[in-house]
Amino acid sequence: MEKQTIQPFLTVANYHLIKQQADKILKTLATTKDKNVILAVRGIVRSDVIDSFVLSDEQVKLVEPLIHIKDRTEGEAFLEQLKAYVIPFKAMEPSKLKSLFKKEKKLKLPDLDDIDFQEISYLTWDDSGKQRKYMVIEENGKYKALKGTFKHQTTKGICALCNCHSDVVRLTTSVKGQVSGTFTNHYSYICADSQLCNQHVTDMEKVKAFFERVTN
Ligand SMILES: [Zn+2]
Repeated sequence: MEKQTIQPFLTVANYHLIKQQADKILKTLATTKDKNVILAVRGIVRSDVIDSFVLSDEQVKLVEPLIHIKDRTEGEAFLEQLKAYVIPFKAMEPSKLKSLFKKEKKLKLPDLDDIDFQEISYLTWDDSGKQRKYMVIEENGKYKALKGTFKHQTTKGICALCNCHSDVVRLTTSVKGQVSGTFTNHYSYICADSQLCNQHVTDMEKVKAFFERVTN
């Protein structure tokens, strides 16, 4: 019988959640020999991943080895294999990016060749000189974009995108008010290091909610 090919089914955020859970199991194995504790952690991972994702039987078979990981080598091999099933961030052309920020004169574009689209839940880049930050997400085939300003100074705080405690910068975004000529500012704290932040995004809904909040 011909082997059925399974299409990519994990979002980048799903993949990072699985990675985080694999780490949780490995850390438990490194710190305890108590079989009941290990079993309990494996059970939690099962419910946080397999039971919370909507997966077909074939997809479960691909994700399930996560629960039974015994060491780091096995964990890394599992994650490497699973990467084939990650839906990358929809690759973009520079012209598409420009069209998302039409009003921006002299828009500084990121080097798209440098970006690993399999590793990002959202696309972001800075124009450091102007202290501007640009962000793009994709939802149901459509792109949403926002522009903000930030100060280089970092503080410790909770990031609005990945929900982790990290070095954050304050992002100011402004939206047009009801009365013409008026603006409402939104202030948010987000990770200063967006590459690291993307690694920590395990729930895309939080990122979408952030976009919704600061652009309305
Ligand atoms: Zn973050």
